[in-house]
Amino acid sequence: MKETMLAYTYLSEGLFALREKPVPHLIDDRDAVVRVTLASVCTSDLHIKHGHVPRAVPGVTVGHELVGIVEEVGKGVKTLRPGERVAVNVETFCGECFFCRRGFVNNCTDKDGGWALGCRIDGGLAEYVRVPHADQGLTPIPDNVSDRQALFVGDLLSTGYWAAKIGEIEKGDTVLLLGAGPTGLCILQCVRLKEPARIVVCEKDAERRRFVREHYPYAETIAPDEAASYIRGICPTGGADKVIEAAGTDDTFRLAWQLARPNAVVTVVAMYDAPQVLPLPDMYGKNLTFKTGGVDGCDCEEIMRLLAANKLDTQPLITHTFPLAEIETAFDLFENRRDGVIKVAIEP
Ligand SMILES: [Zn+2]
Ligand SMILES: [Zn+2]
Repeated sequence: MKETMLAYTYLSEGLFALREKPVPHLIDDRDAVVRVTLASVCTSDLHIKHGHVPRAVPGVTVGHELVGIVEEVGKGVKTLRPGERVAVNVETFCGECFFCRRGFVNNCTDKDGGWALGCRIDGGLAEYVRVPHADQGLTPIPDNVSDRQALFVGDLLSTGYWAAKIGEIEKGDTVLLLGAGPTGLCILQCVRLKEPARIVVCEKDAERRRFVREHYPYAETIAPDEAASYIRGICPTGGADKVIEAAGTDDTFRLAWQLARPNAVVTVVAMYDAPQVLPLPDMYGKNLTFKTGGVDGCDCEEIMRLLAANKLDTQPLITHTFPLAEIETAFDLFENRRDGVIKVAIEP
């Protein structure tokens, strides 16, 4: 193993840079060191860059969406061996605390629990990464699943799977999904596994609506300004049975509850720049159930199984691929949404 490596580093608010750092080593018996073979850039990385994640530590290597090969494992690691291909979970978690035992791994109370990787501890936009609680946070990749297929298991697909699960999607439902960005596209596929009758995707960007029609033609696509008349036209009950909001604007937050039928479940997955207002008098008697859910990466094994069975396919989301040395270009493209970018893959 080499001694130094390149690592994309959060230096200060507004500033990321590629830096030479020592290759990480095991610290705890439950750690693994993973050689990164493919990584990605996530909107949460942008949130760190712009100072919206106060717990992010300056100097930390960013990146929390990646796959790789186990390089070494601590004595306490039971399920993994060096040489195994793995997907890395965005969340590191102990598997033993109150929340972990109930599947709420995002809320793990361990010191490294929850979203630590690429935020509070060094992450995966680098050649190597140390992963605490490796037995919990690494999911083996079957031989018939490629790195590009498995890239989003630990973060985006975990978000999509969690949203479809807490959204209580049932067979025969009409589901309204707001937002067809990377998260929305993963939610869409996970929602479909629940066999709803219709999935209507509301997205303001015409190019992204076209992308949905091309790759996931089972969904209907609409623009926000036509959403109300369209949903009321197809739903005799006055609104969608289930709504998932993944767009994160004031307008889509309002549409989410306005276009839900009485007694619907409205699941809010989006991250907002500002607080949102729930005008309760306007929805009095509508008896809505609201749920909120960021990613909870408790179902990675099941997601991997679905990928291996070709029930999920997120490869179309990888619209661009760059070597780690060109991460600045990749980041700029992703941040400024140039060239029809959905997700960028980074090869260390
Ligand atoms: Zn992320
Ligand atoms: Zn825990």
